[in-house]
Amino acid sequence: MCGIIGYTGQNESTNKIISGLKALAYRGYDSAGIAAFTDEGVRVVKTAGKVSVLEEELNRQEEIVSTCAIGHTRWATHGAPTSCNAHPHRVGAVTLVHNGIIENEAELRRELKKQGHEFHSQTDTEVAAAIIEQCYQREKDPLKALWAAEEILRGAYAFAVLFDDLPDNIYALRRQSPLLIAPAEDGVYLASDLPAVLPYTKERFTLEEGEIAVLTKQ
Ligand code: GLU
Repeated sequence: MCGIIGYTGQNESTNKIISGLKALAYRGYDSAGIAAFTDEGVRVVKTAGKVSVLEEELNRQEEIVSTCAIGHTRWATHGAPTSCNAHPHRVGAVTLVHNGIIENEAELRRELKKQGHEFHSQTDTEVAAAIIEQCYQREKDPLKALWAAEEILRGAYAFAVLFDDLPDNIYALRRQSPLLIAPAEDGVYLASDLPAVLPYTKERFTLEEGEIAVLTKQ
Protein backbone atom coordinates (compact mmCIF):
# COMPACT_ATOMS: atom_id res chain seq x y z
CA MET A 1 0.00 0.00 0.00
CA CYS A 2 1.34 3.36 -0.84
CA GLY A 3 0.37 6.81 0.30
CA ILE A 4 -1.13 9.73 -1.56
CA ILE A 5 -1.40 13.27 -0.23
CA GLY A 6 -2.52 16.43 -2.02
CA TYR A 7 -3.18 20.03 -1.07
CA THR A 8 -4.39 23.18 -2.78
CA GLY A 9 -5.03 26.35 -0.82
CA GLN A 10 -3.63 29.59 0.53
CA ASN A 11 -0.48 28.26 2.15
CA GLU A 12 2.84 26.86 1.06
CA SER A 13 2.32 23.25 0.01
CA THR A 14 5.72 21.49 0.02
CA ASN A 15 6.05 21.14 3.80
CA LYS A 16 2.47 19.89 4.03
CA ILE A 17 3.20 17.22 1.42
CA ILE A 18 6.35 16.09 3.23
CA SER A 19 4.62 15.85 6.62
CA GLY A 20 1.67 14.09 4.98
CA LEU A 21 4.02 11.52 3.45
CA LYS A 22 5.67 10.97 6.83
CA ALA A 23 2.24 10.45 8.40
CA LEU A 24 1.47 7.82 5.75
CA ALA A 25 4.82 6.03 6.08
CA TYR A 26 3.28 3.35 8.34
CA ARG A 27 1.62 1.95 5.18
CA GLY A 28 5.06 0.89 3.91
CA TYR A 29 6.93 2.27 0.89
CA ASP A 30 10.20 2.17 -1.02
CA SER A 31 10.42 5.58 -2.72
CA ALA A 32 8.76 8.97 -2.61
CA GLY A 33 8.01 11.98 -4.77
CA ILE A 34 6.22 15.28 -5.15
CA ALA A 35 4.76 17.32 -8.02
CA ALA A 36 3.92 20.99 -7.50
CA PHE A 37 2.45 23.77 -9.59
CA THR A 38 4.96 26.65 -9.66
CA ASP A 39 5.19 29.87 -11.69
CA GLU A 40 7.40 27.93 -14.11
CA GLY A 41 4.98 25.03 -14.50
CA VAL A 42 4.77 21.63 -12.78
CA ARG A 43 7.97 20.64 -10.91
CA VAL A 44 8.55 16.95 -10.11
CA VAL A 45 11.11 15.71 -7.59
CA LYS A 46 11.35 12.01 -6.71
CA THR A 47 13.86 9.75 -5.00
CA ALA A 48 14.32 6.09 -4.04
CA GLY A 49 14.31 5.36 -0.33
CA LYS A 50 12.92 7.22 2.64
CA VAL A 51 10.96 10.47 2.67
CA SER A 52 14.00 11.98 4.41
CA VAL A 53 15.99 11.34 1.19
CA LEU A 54 13.34 13.24 -0.76
CA GLU A 55 13.56 16.04 1.80
CA GLU A 56 17.34 16.21 1.39
CA GLU A 57 16.95 16.36 -2.40
CA LEU A 58 14.39 19.17 -2.06
CA ASN A 59 16.81 21.06 0.18
CA ARG A 60 19.57 20.63 -2.41
CA GLN A 61 17.46 21.95 -5.29
CA GLU A 62 16.07 25.42 -5.89
CA GLU A 63 13.19 25.96 -3.48
CA ILE A 64 9.73 25.00 -4.74
CA VAL A 65 7.31 27.87 -4.30
CA SER A 66 3.82 26.44 -4.62
CA THR A 67 0.40 26.37 -3.02
CA CYS A 68 -0.81 23.26 -4.88
CA ALA A 69 1.00 19.93 -4.85
CA ILE A 70 0.61 16.17 -4.71
CA GLY A 71 2.91 13.63 -3.06
CA HIS A 72 3.37 9.88 -3.09
CA THR A 73 5.07 7.06 -1.25
CA ARG A 74 5.43 4.07 -3.59
CA TRP A 75 5.17 0.38 -2.88
CA ALA A 76 6.59 -1.03 -6.11
CA THR A 77 4.51 -3.59 -7.97
CA HIS A 78 5.72 -2.93 -11.55
CA GLY A 79 9.42 -2.12 -11.84
CA ALA A 80 12.20 -1.82 -9.29
CA PRO A 81 12.11 0.78 -6.49
CA THR A 82 14.23 3.34 -8.36
CA SER A 83 13.87 7.10 -8.61
CA CYS A 84 12.84 6.69 -12.27
CA ASN A 85 9.97 4.35 -11.35
CA ALA A 86 8.96 6.51 -8.36
CA HIS A 87 5.87 8.66 -8.74
CA PRO A 88 4.76 11.24 -9.86
CA HIS A 89 4.81 10.24 -13.52
CA ARG A 90 4.48 12.81 -16.23
CA VAL A 91 3.20 12.27 -19.79
CA GLY A 92 2.59 15.37 -21.90
CA ALA A 93 0.41 17.75 -19.92
CA VAL A 94 -0.57 15.11 -17.35
CA THR A 95 1.18 14.45 -14.04
CA LEU A 96 -0.10 11.81 -11.64
CA VAL A 97 0.45 9.65 -8.60
CA HIS A 98 -1.17 6.26 -8.27
CA ASN A 99 -1.93 3.73 -5.62
CA GLY A 100 -2.82 0.23 -6.85
CA ILE A 101 -2.29 -2.00 -9.85
CA ILE A 102 -3.45 -1.55 -13.45
CA GLU A 103 -4.25 -5.11 -14.49
CA ASN A 104 -4.33 -4.53 -18.25
CA GLU A 105 -1.09 -2.52 -18.29
CA ALA A 106 0.80 -5.04 -20.50
CA GLU A 107 -1.74 -4.91 -23.33
CA LEU A 108 -2.15 -1.13 -23.02
CA ARG A 109 1.65 -0.68 -23.08
CA ARG A 110 1.89 -2.85 -26.22
CA GLU A 111 -0.87 -0.88 -27.90
CA LEU A 112 0.63 2.51 -26.98
CA LYS A 113 4.10 1.40 -28.15
CA LYS A 114 2.59 0.40 -31.48
CA GLN A 115 1.24 3.94 -31.73
CA GLY A 116 4.77 5.28 -31.16
CA HIS A 117 4.60 6.12 -27.46
CA GLU A 118 7.94 5.92 -25.63
CA PHE A 119 8.00 4.85 -22.00
CA HIS A 120 10.59 6.01 -19.49
CA SER A 121 9.71 3.71 -16.57
CA GLN A 122 8.56 0.13 -16.06
CA THR A 123 5.48 1.13 -14.10
CA ASP A 124 1.82 0.47 -14.79
CA THR A 125 1.35 4.03 -13.55
CA GLU A 126 3.13 5.57 -16.53
CA VAL A 127 0.81 3.53 -18.78
CA ALA A 128 -2.18 5.00 -16.92
CA ALA A 129 -0.71 8.50 -17.31
CA ALA A 130 -0.31 7.90 -21.06
CA ILE A 131 -3.92 6.73 -21.35
CA ILE A 132 -5.25 9.75 -19.42
CA GLU A 133 -3.08 12.06 -21.54
CA GLN A 134 -4.40 10.49 -24.74
CA CYS A 135 -7.98 10.85 -23.50
CA TYR A 136 -7.28 14.48 -22.52
CA GLN A 137 -5.92 15.27 -25.98
CA ARG A 138 -9.05 13.80 -27.50
CA GLU A 139 -11.69 15.14 -25.11
CA LYS A 140 -10.07 18.51 -24.27
CA ASP A 141 -11.91 18.37 -20.97
CA PRO A 142 -10.45 16.89 -17.75
CA LEU A 143 -13.63 15.24 -16.46
CA LYS A 144 -14.51 13.71 -19.82
CA ALA A 145 -10.91 12.53 -20.16
CA LEU A 146 -10.94 10.86 -16.74
CA TRP A 147 -14.29 9.21 -17.40
CA ALA A 148 -12.97 7.92 -20.73
CA ALA A 149 -9.79 6.63 -19.04
CA GLU A 150 -11.88 4.82 -16.42
CA GLU A 151 -13.49 2.87 -19.25
CA ILE A 152 -10.06 1.71 -20.42
CA LEU A 153 -8.14 1.06 -17.18
CA ARG A 154 -8.77 -2.23 -15.33
CA GLY A 155 -7.71 -3.04 -11.81
CA ALA A 156 -7.36 -1.09 -8.59
CA TYR A 157 -6.39 2.54 -8.40
CA ALA A 158 -6.47 5.79 -6.58
CA PHE A 159 -5.15 8.67 -8.68
CA ALA A 160 -4.32 12.28 -7.97
CA VAL A 161 -3.89 14.05 -11.29
CA LEU A 162 -2.58 17.47 -12.37
CA PHE A 163 -3.20 18.97 -15.82
CA ASP A 164 -0.58 21.57 -16.87
CA ASP A 165 -3.17 23.95 -18.27
CA LEU A 166 -5.40 23.80 -15.18
CA PRO A 167 -3.04 25.18 -12.55
CA ASP A 168 -3.81 24.81 -8.85
CA ASN A 169 -6.48 22.16 -9.40
CA ILE A 170 -6.12 18.53 -8.35
CA TYR A 171 -8.32 15.81 -9.85
CA ALA A 172 -8.92 12.63 -7.88
CA LEU A 173 -10.59 9.33 -8.70
CA ARG A 174 -10.47 5.83 -7.33
CA ARG A 175 -11.49 2.21 -7.69
CA GLN A 176 -10.80 -0.24 -4.85
CA SER A 177 -8.03 1.92 -3.37
CA PRO A 178 -8.93 4.45 -0.68
CA LEU A 179 -8.94 8.24 -0.96
CA LEU A 180 -10.47 10.84 1.30
CA ILE A 181 -11.09 14.52 0.76
CA ALA A 182 -10.67 16.89 3.69
CA PRO A 183 -11.77 20.52 3.43
CA ALA A 184 -9.93 22.79 5.88
CA GLU A 185 -9.73 26.52 6.72
CA ASP A 186 -6.64 27.04 4.58
CA GLY A 187 -7.61 24.93 1.57
CA VAL A 188 -8.51 21.37 0.74
CA TYR A 189 -6.57 18.15 1.28
CA LEU A 190 -6.63 14.74 -0.33
CA ALA A 191 -5.14 11.65 1.30
CA SER A 192 -5.04 7.88 1.35
CA ASP A 193 -5.71 7.91 5.07
CA LEU A 194 -6.67 10.10 7.99
CA PRO A 195 -3.32 10.63 9.79
CA ALA A 196 -2.10 12.77 6.87
CA VAL A 197 -4.87 15.37 7.28
CA LEU A 198 -5.61 15.23 11.03
CA PRO A 199 -3.32 18.19 11.88
CA TYR A 200 -5.41 20.45 9.62
CA THR A 201 -9.06 19.44 9.87
CA LYS A 202 -11.55 17.02 11.33
CA GLU A 203 -13.88 17.38 8.38
CA ARG A 204 -13.53 14.76 5.67
CA PHE A 205 -15.44 12.48 3.37
CA THR A 206 -14.59 9.36 1.44
CA LEU A 207 -14.40 9.60 -2.31
CA GLU A 208 -16.77 6.92 -3.56
CA GLU A 209 -16.01 4.61 -6.47
CA GLY A 210 -16.97 6.22 -9.74
CA GLU A 211 -16.83 9.75 -8.31
CA ILE A 212 -14.30 12.28 -9.52
CA ALA A 213 -13.25 15.05 -7.15
CA VAL A 214 -11.95 18.40 -8.35
CA LEU A 215 -10.00 20.20 -5.64
CA THR A 216 -9.74 23.93 -6.24
CA LYS A 217 -8.61 26.86 -4.12
CA GLN A 218 -12.28 27.87 -3.83
N1 GLU B 1 1.64 -0.11 -9.30
C1 GLU B 1 2.28 1.15 -9.10
C2 GLU B 1 3.79 1.04 -9.20
O1 GLU B 1 4.34 -0.01 -9.12
C3 GLU B 1 1.84 1.84 -7.80
C4 GLU B 1 2.17 1.03 -6.58
C5 GLU B 1 1.71 1.71 -5.30
O2 GLU B 1 0.53 1.52 -4.93
O3 GLU B 1 2.54 2.41 -4.69
O4 GLU B 1 4.44 2.01 -9.40
